[in-house]
Amino acid sequence: MFNCEREPLTLLVEITPRLAKKRYKESIYEAWNHQCGYCLKPATSLDHIIPKFSSGSSKRNNLLPACRNCNKNKGSIKMDQWYKKQLFFTLEQYNKIKEWMKEPIQIEDLTIDNKLVEKLEYA
Ligand SMILES: [Zn+2]
Repeated sequence: MFNCEREPLTLLVEITPRLAKKRYKESIYEAWNHQCGYCLKPATSLDHIIPKFSSGSSKRNNLLPACRNCNKNKGSIKMDQWYKKQLFFTLEQYNKIKEWMKEPIQIEDLTIDNKLVEKLEYA
């Protein structure tokens, strides 16, 4: 199907999802000033607030920028249990995380979902 890596179709399929993913992640870092959502040190990764294996999603409101230590230490422990035991715990930051988790589904997500629904309906 793709004859050349520079063909428009190839570029569209190959580059757009990657860019979209990068922008998506970037927007989460920016919302938290590139700081760890827990201890405020520079964030190096995105933590799943509700761990993936506890059916935590990869939606924006379940992803929190975190520093290496927090991400590693938290591991698979529930955010509430883990964070409240940390020396850097503050109620203010805790509420901020809780607010973030309540954020409604982004418009972009809905657009994607609707397109998918259309595709399925007319397939
Ligand atoms: Zn941290």
